[in-house]
Amino acid sequence: MTLTKKPESRPAAATWGLTARGIPWEYAPAPESTDHIEIRAEYGLFIDNRFAPSRPKVTFEVINPATEEPLARVAKASKADVNRAVAAARRAHDTVWSRLPGSERAKYLYRIARIIQERSREFAVVETMNSGKPIKESRDVDVPLAAAHFFYYAGWADKLDYAFPGRQPRPLGVAAQIIPWNFPLLMLAWKIAPALAAGNTVILKPASTTPLTAYLFADVVRQADLPPGVVNIITGPGEIGMELVRHPDVNKVAFTGSTAVGKMIGRAVAGSRKKLTLELGGKAANIVFDDAPLDQAIEGIINGIYFNQGEVCCAGSRLFVQESVYEPLLDKLKARLSTLRVGDPLDKNTDVGAINSAGQLAKIKELVQSGIEEGAEIFQPDCELPDRGYFFRPTLFTGVSQSHRIAQEEIFGPVLSVLTFRTPDEAIEKANNTPYGLSAGVWTEKGSRIFKMVGAMKAGVVWANTFNRFDPTSPFGGYKESGYGREGGIHGLAAYLDMSADGTNGR
Ligand code: NDP
Repeated sequence: MTLTKKPESRPAAATWGLTARGIPWEYAPAPESTDHIEIRAEYGLFIDNRFAPSRPKVTFEVINPATEEPLARVAKASKADVNRAVAAARRAHDTVWSRLPGSERAKYLYRIARIIQERSREFAVVETMNSGKPIKESRDVDVPLAAAHFFYYAGWADKLDYAFPGRQPRPLGVAAQIIPWNFPLLMLAWKIAPALAAGNTVILKPASTTPLTAYLFADVVRQADLPPGVVNIITGPGEIGMELVRHPDVNKVAFTGSTAVGKMIGRAVAGSRKKLTLELGGKAANIVFDDAPLDQAIEGIINGIYFNQGEVCCAGSRLFVQESVYEPLLDKLKARLSTLRVGDPLDKNTDVGAINSAGQLAKIKELVQSGIEEGAEIFQPDCELPDRGYFFRPTLFTGVSQSHRIAQEEIFGPVLSVLTFRTPDEAIEKANNTPYGLSAGVWTEKGSRIFKMVGAMKAGVVWANTFNRFDPTSPFGGYKESGYGREGGIHGLAAYLDMSADGTNGR
């Protein structure tokens, strides 16, 4: 990283997102190299450890959202392909994977974890090119955490009886896993690692905009010499996801994505013996009390909502500030917002990259417009956006009332709504006034207040004096319209196990 003094003669346009206010220097461009990356022109479906075209052969285009340029074409699966993938997973489950001792399954998982680490640079660059997220996030968060999930669940594979004493844990069978575009590799790891550790086989459907790290992972599966059919990856539109969900030979469905699709999936599996985990949307409250260390809280607020362009289900998108510190906090927040660098996701200094798709950008713009029309006051730093690609300025709204759409709906973009409160009870009531319940944050120096707030907030995860921290040992999941079931930790393992007395769960 090179810090250069800004020469007086430098053209004013080259500010890389910084305003002149109080910042006398700027970062030199630091683009990550793409020389070592090989993205194939076309990817087939990955079934039985082989890449093969869909039947009939149909493909669709995948682009780089930061440049709008094509990256590759990928296969569009048909119903017949879904049947083939499920048959491959069933065969692998019944004949090989469920029969292996846990200690053998663990060896494969450790191998996958190590290969992800070895190929981490490749994964990070492809993830950034395909999703639009800043390279420093894919490099320092997504990829290391994905490897950590495989390491963690490898450790449990031969200890299932110890994890659930007296319960006779058995694999469920074939798992259908549908993941979104905001953390493509990490969501893959959250889904595949516990499923394999528990002895299940899987068919994964990535989001149509972000399949490339999943197909890179398919390469890892072959490199790790996993038996054919244990991991299958198919691409195609939402209807193909639904074919997978409805398939009679699937025993477990795990979905991460929008609440609307989650409800459809819930209806589709109702009445069957399929086990279901739904990880859906959120509208998290991040609550700052007047005794909080404000500078630390500012970093937590920024990380809470502008990390991954705010395309995070647990993003701290509603900020509640105690009235007595509202003005100093807002001044600091606006100043900090003005230092965020928006632009080329492959630049190592970029803080806010590209929005994942034109559709998502349109949704963000529509909701921001509604905030303006409903009377909230908008603040955006004065930064330049690249000419091409799907970019949006980090935004905050003040004067927001609880009934505004920007305070109620999941925006899934870099947009923060700021509200105020006077007492802890008022904060709790306002924070819980949402159909969602995925996460929340509390900033205070009083331990007793933290415990009171954690107990009172209807959210699956509550962070205290930090935000958006993830660890494979810690369960993650929601209340209400944020879904049910947990991923991560021992709870995430239980979601892939049949612990019924007669061993018929899911069959
Ligand atoms: P979706 O819920 O539509 O997509 C998530 C995954 O589900 C993708 O793999 C998608 O495939 C698949 N899918 C879509 N329709 C169906 C279906 N009928 N049956 C089975 N699978 C299906 O999210 P969007 O991409 O449309 O995003 C819309 C909004 O959802 C966002 O603005 C955001 O608010 C929220 N969202 C929340 C996420 C979270 O982590 N909680 C993640 C992503 C979005 P395909 O990509 O082919 O459509």
